[in-house]
Amino acid sequence: MAQKVVGTGARSGAPVVCVIGGGQLARMMQEAAIPLGIELRALVEAEDGSAGQAIPYSTVGAADDRDLITGWVGGNVVTVEHEHIPDPILREIDSRPSADALRFAQDKLVMRSELEAPHPRWYEATSRAEIDSSIAALGGVAIAKTPTDGYDGKGVAVVRSAVDVPWEYADGERILLEEKVEFDMEVALLIARRLSGEMKAWPLVQSTQRDGICYEVIAPAPVDQALLDRATEIATTIAEQTGVVGVLAVEMFVVGDRLLVNELAMRPHNTGHWTIDGAVTSQFEQHLRAVLDLPLGDTSPKAAWSVMVNLLGSDLEDPRQALGAVWEADPGVKIHMYGKEVRPLRKIGHVTVSGDDLESVKARAHEAIRILEGK
Ligand code: ADP
Repeated sequence: MAQKVVGTGARSGAPVVCVIGGGQLARMMQEAAIPLGIELRALVEAEDGSAGQAIPYSTVGAADDRDLITGWVGGNVVTVEHEHIPDPILREIDSRPSADALRFAQDKLVMRSELEAPHPRWYEATSRAEIDSSIAALGGVAIAKTPTDGYDGKGVAVVRSAVDVPWEYADGERILLEEKVEFDMEVALLIARRLSGEMKAWPLVQSTQRDGICYEVIAPAPVDQALLDRATEIATTIAEQTGVVGVLAVEMFVVGDRLLVNELAMRPHNTGHWTIDGAVTSQFEQHLRAVLDLPLGDTSPKAAWSVMVNLLGSDLEDPRQALGAVWEADPGVKIHMYGKEVRPLRKIGHVTVSGDDLESVKARAHEAIRILEGK
């Protein structure tokens, strides 16, 4: 039985934003909504999940429950913290970003075929024979991707033949095959676009993955100005072309002096968590401002360098027991815990450290994570 808590915002005159999804992104949106007096309502998977714990106006329900969602929204502004909402539902509600924009983040084949941006070389295959011929055309090795519903490296695999595809594949299903890019670095450019068109970008950041999951983010990315400018240009063009509303994350590969777009997210993104502590306006506040069509905030960094490191599981039963130990060692570390139970490689929190010297900022962030991991 869905718990339905309606809220008072519409009656009191407070801006109301409904968010679909009950993970840490919705939880951190609430952190930004509180000082602004914005009433955030969340459609959550579980009452006691990451967002449910922090958002009093939470309704338990599934992201594909059409009747529940259309009733729950009730004409308010709706945003999302993940891409897994069926297109027909998005089309019935005032979703920001819209269904037309979200297609580019929901389906990697739509993104590769329709987006005006530099991509890795790619093919669409719909049979095992086509998978093999695409791999051959890409030089004998390729990255296979499920077009939809992949996340954190799930649905992404290095393949040398159709038999290497590690998930169930039946002839007739669409699959994306692309060149295995020998990149120098992975980067992300986050930009917010307001409903009426104003856009503001944060500096380009470098991201490092562990087992396909974002692990460390360095802001700004240690690359030259020309590349920073080019990345902003690419993301601005994509934001305009897709008509996204809210935060857009453009993940890219750096290959020499070239940038290739890997994928898009249309919501606050892991590579933007550093902005909570390290930028004048956080991605969560900016997302709320953008979807409510309010003027956007200053995206300048507050320090020369910020480094964010994710806490991916822990050997401790509850890493919050180690808050004291982290601050005994380094009182300047900013710690964010998501209220999630520990599981191997699960994103359960992150830390951010800012300062003038990149090497020391990096070392401090990793030391804090080592303590929270109980290593
Ligand atoms: P997800 O939807 O799971 O985030 P991504 O497309 O971002 O999937 O892929 C996850 C990771 O796999 C990337 O961050 C990158 O490290 C690696 N990867 C993805 N595509 C390629 C590629 N074409 N060449 C090399 N590595 C890739």
